[in-house]
Amino acid sequence: MTVDIDSGTQLLGLLGHPLEHSFSPKIHNYACEKLGLNYAYLCFDILPEDLKEALAGLRALGVRGFNVTIPYKRDVMKAADRLHSPADEIGAVNTVVNENGIFHAYNTDAGGFLRMLKKEAGFSPAGSSALIAGAGGAARAVGISLLEAGVDSLRVVNRTPGKGKELVAEWREFYPGTDLDAGELRKEYYSPLLREVELVVDTTPVGMSPNTDVEPVLSPSVLHSNLLVVDLVYNPAETVLMKAARRAGATTLNGEGMLLYQALEAFQLWTGVDPFQLDWPENFFHRN
Ligand code: NAP
Repeated sequence: MTVDIDSGTQLLGLLGHPLEHSFSPKIHNYACEKLGLNYAYLCFDILPEDLKEALAGLRALGVRGFNVTIPYKRDVMKAADRLHSPADEIGAVNTVVNENGIFHAYNTDAGGFLRMLKKEAGFSPAGSSALIAGAGGAARAVGISLLEAGVDSLRVVNRTPGKGKELVAEWREFYPGTDLDAGELRKEYYSPLLREVELVVDTTPVGMSPNTDVEPVLSPSVLHSNLLVVDLVYNPAETVLMKAARRAGATTLNGEGMLLYQALEAFQLWTGVDPFQLDWPENFFHRN
């Protein structure tokens, strides 16, 4: 997978720290090559003390745009010139488009998540009930996407219960018609809830490589066949939670779809070209 670089090549990239295992260059450079577009996508592993200068440098160099990942999703939101929905509701940015030196900031994680639910599980959140495990950045994006899509009831369970409660308090202000609550990540709390929900989303890193041999974040004994269980982790392809859910007869998805679709939404913002038309090879993320 190579891009022919010449004087007309426009630069795209990823800002974060650390970045060793990012799939983003693979996705974007593949899309550029297949669509015959003259862009190149690189990783910029930036230390926190260098972030301000890095942003000034990207602007001075005239990069067309960049993605933002941990730990800079909030810092870049504050540094951007224009904030586009739903980045403001989520409180984090994962994509910036540089329009003649003006940084336009977006969040495509929420759209990527919804697209995955629809395309890969045929699931529409409108009128459904869902439970999110975790209350970090990914939970924020997933929560807003579900609320915007018209979920009826939403529960957050988190190891640090105060963080889940804060999140839900924020959401209550903007979605007063939705049944919202949060509690501790304890079986006594979530066990009755799991009998009522249709969708479970694990937004914690539990089970992510190399720590794959761990207890799933939700007890296998409460999983059942009427659930769609989504784990945002994509390495390994089947997490310990997904295995338990599959054994319980549930439908399962990992985070690969969200990873791909959030990237493609960003790609479209930078290039104006629709990358969803491409055929993405089976096992795209795990082949050499
Ligand atoms: P984050 O902001 O650090 O939040 C992590 C959340 O997981 C927190 O709520 C934390 O609970 C909880 N947590 C961490 N370790 C835990 C454990 N051992 N047991 C129970 N809960 C635990 O991270 P993030 O940005 O939300 O990312 C979370 C995961 O989602 C990562 O694995 C990331 O790779 C994945 N992700 C995937 C995609 C995708 O496109 N597929 C996109 C974004 C993120 P406390 O509040 O108690 O600390």
